[in-house]
Amino acid sequence: MAEYICPNCKKPIYDDEALLCLYCGESLRRSTGFIGRLKYSGFKLIVVMVILIVAVAFLLLVIR
Ligand SMILES: [Zn+2]
Repeated sequence: MAEYICPNCKKPIYDDEALLCLYCGESLRRSTGFIGRLKYSGFKLIVVMVILIVAVAFLLLVIR
């Protein structure tokens, strides 16, 4: 039985089957913890950029 340290609150989790931290609810899977958040913020950034590009293109079409 392995001890796992929560990446968010640094508390040890002794339940191997637990997917979420018992204390803060953070996901304990290494692939979806910190990196998952990075991917999510990157995705949001891409969405914002696409919206900006579409808005600028629309403005150029309207101005013309
Ligand atoms: Zn935690």
